Amino acid sequence: MINLGEKCAVFGVFGKGLDVARLSFFGLFALQHRGQESSGIATSNGDTLTMHKGMGLVSQIFNDDILKGLKGHIAVGHNRYSTTGGSKVKHAQPMLAAGSSKVQKVVYEDPNPSLNESVALASGPDDGAIALVHNGNLPSTKDLENFLRGKGIDPAEFSDSRMMVEAIAARMREGADLPTAIKDVLPLFTGAFSILVMSQDKLIAVRDQCGIRPLALARLNGGYVVASETCAFAPIGAKFEREINAGEMVIIDGDGIHSEQVLTPNPKLDIFEFVYFARPDSELLVKSVYEMRKECGVQLAKEYPIEADVVIPVPETAIPAGIGYSRSTGIPMEAGLTKNRYIHRTFITPEQHVREQGVKAKLTPIPEVIRGKRVVVMDDSIVRGTTSRQIVAMLFEAGAKEVHFLVSSPPVKFPDFYGIDTPKQTELIAATKSVEQIRQYLGATSLRFLSYNGMIKATGISDEQFSTSAFTGIYPIDIRERAKEIRYQ
Ligand code: AMP
Repeated sequence: MINLGEKCAVFGVFGKGLDVARLSFFGLFALQHRGQESSGIATSNGDTLTMHKGMGLVSQIFNDDILKGLKGHIAVGHNRYSTTGGSKVKHAQPMLAAGSSKVQKVVYEDPNPSLNESVALASGPDDGAIALVHNGNLPSTKDLENFLRGKGIDPAEFSDSRMMVEAIAARMREGADLPTAIKDVLPLFTGAFSILVMSQDKLIAVRDQCGIRPLALARLNGGYVVASETCAFAPIGAKFEREINAGEMVIIDGDGIHSEQVLTPNPKLDIFEFVYFARPDSELLVKSVYEMRKECGVQLAKEYPIEADVVIPVPETAIPAGIGYSRSTGIPMEAGLTKNRYIHRTFITPEQHVREQGVKAKLTPIPEVIRGKRVVVMDDSIVRGTTSRQIVAMLFEAGAKEVHFLVSSPPVKFPDFYGIDTPKQTELIAATKSVEQIRQYLGATSLRFLSYNGMIKATGISDEQFSTSAFTGIYPIDIRERAKEIRYQ
């Protein structure tokens, strides 16, 4: 299979009389931080599924005309980010499949066919055409591949998400209705998934048995919204109701909403959602992400109070931790690094000179608050160490007397297999170097990571409720053959 490291956003809406395409556009817009490579929306009017997807940011892919063409009362949307496997529109989601031989595919002509794709699946009102969006990653797809081969489908060129939708459609072609088809193939989905599946008349949300990636439910004007993060609800006026539970399947259709526990739950949200990935205005496990990050700064102040003149957080994820540390130690905080928030990875191609500039294209120091000072710089995590090294150099160049690098999470020693894009283990600086060696590499006066217990304390939740694989190498969903990629010292 094509191996894709994905960190993504899903969004879905069901509601008669709602402008579902426009709601999806604004929902995906609020979830842009989860993926900037491609985006797409599929809608259903009860008869035909229409989809538009393309490469780039939500705002680059959709315009008024395109949204008007996406008609119906149900929609699913997706933002995708991936580094490996190539940036191709064929990996963009939603992914459509035909669960009935009656389904007809209509490909509309597009003004820019190499970048965008508009497709309609027309099948009449019986459950046939389906669209799937997936946040997560299946580290092993062997079972799925065997299943598909058994149905005469070659999965060689498929991503894990494409395999999932094809497996569901294959069961539907054998006569299963959509909820049954999903339940039948769920045991083959060995990995992390928060998925939404839409047919002509249903929106179905399913979360893996550990609930590794988030998924939340809201109400809107008699309809329902499902999104990766709660931050997608306020901008569209939806009212957050609850998280979808680990192993739960929620079915929304003309009869209302039904829930079924389809997998034995073993809740283990990825703690990296709290650390880095989620937006601070989101809520996870009934806790504010912002408050948790602030508390990480408070814990760090308890573990490592230092003499310094100024706290400078690396925008934007580390700002709450900077506030917590500054308040607890009494060291004033300054916005000493400015982020150009319009720089996205999409624009930083290997050929561009801007890549060599690295972090300088993204962050600029303000020498007035740095010069002659003992600086505490706070970041949320160190992955490869390249960003942190450039930040330390930048702060010294701007006149800092000392640069104390504080990290509001423990060292990342293990790669992710569940849908967050991290490099392989050998490229994780903390997997191969001691804290002192990392300090030397960064060129910092001192370096300190928040302890594992400090991070857990900041959540206010037991660590049994989390997947902590990035820090501990404990993978709650079997990573099967991928385990050979991991070394434990
Ligand atoms: P690095 O230079 O590889 O050490 O990157 C560290 C920076 O990347 C930190 O500022 C983090 O906020 C950010 N970061 C952490 N995890 C990820 C991720 N999975 N994808 C992109 N950026 C990340």
